[in-house]
Amino acid sequence: LMFGKVKQCNSAAAADRSPAQCNLVLLGVKGSGKSALTVKFLTKRFISEYDPHLEDIYSSEEMVDQQPVTVRVMDTCDQGPVNSERYMSWASAFLVVYSINNMESFKGCQLYLHTLALHNKSPIMLLGNKLDMDRYRQVSRCDGELLASRFGCVFFEVSACLDFLSVQRVFHEAVRRGGCV
Ligand code: GDP
Ligand code: MG
Repeated sequence: LMFGKVKQCNSAAAADRSPAQCNLVLLGVKGSGKSALTVKFLTKRFISEYDPHLEDIYSSEEMVDQQPVTVRVMDTCDQGPVNSERYMSWASAFLVVYSINNMESFKGCQLYLHTLALHNKSPIMLLGNKLDMDRYRQVSRCDGELLASRFGCVFFEVSACLDFLSVQRVFHEAVRRGGCV
């Protein structure tokens, strides 16, 4: 009976050709670069001025590890921990963003990490954005790594205005960590 059931499951999965789904949410204070990262991932382009009040969900058909997956990205507007129900159970993985040239954004992102920890949410990717602004760095890579390890996050430094592939790599890693492929 056990084997019969497994077999049934497998054939059902094989018949179902619809791609896997993955929901990613970007969190962090205003100005950290959530929209710029989202747009870069979706279009390969850096859009420098993006409506700071816009919150939306975008969808992209991706290939991650040779597997098709529909990735939905919720680009949030900073509302702090209030109203977090909209993404808490929706998201497969959480991307918490700060900018390395802004200490306030680093402090501000910790509220999101605390809120996610309170709800036992994972996986979390902590992203130090604006790596191109290294000259004006206020948050060391080490501080980023330390915060990430305190909250059990994967840590990356990225830039929405440098190469597309390193931004894509971060989003694809979130898809993997989210168990979507
Ligand atoms: P959001 O409020 O978190 O969505 O932040 P935005 O994506 O709107 O970005 C805020 C500002 O930072 C905008 O002026 C962007 O052009 C700029 N920005 C975003 N990402 C980067 C980056 O990686 N490098 C640099 N130099 N500027 C960035
Ligand atoms: Mg935005």
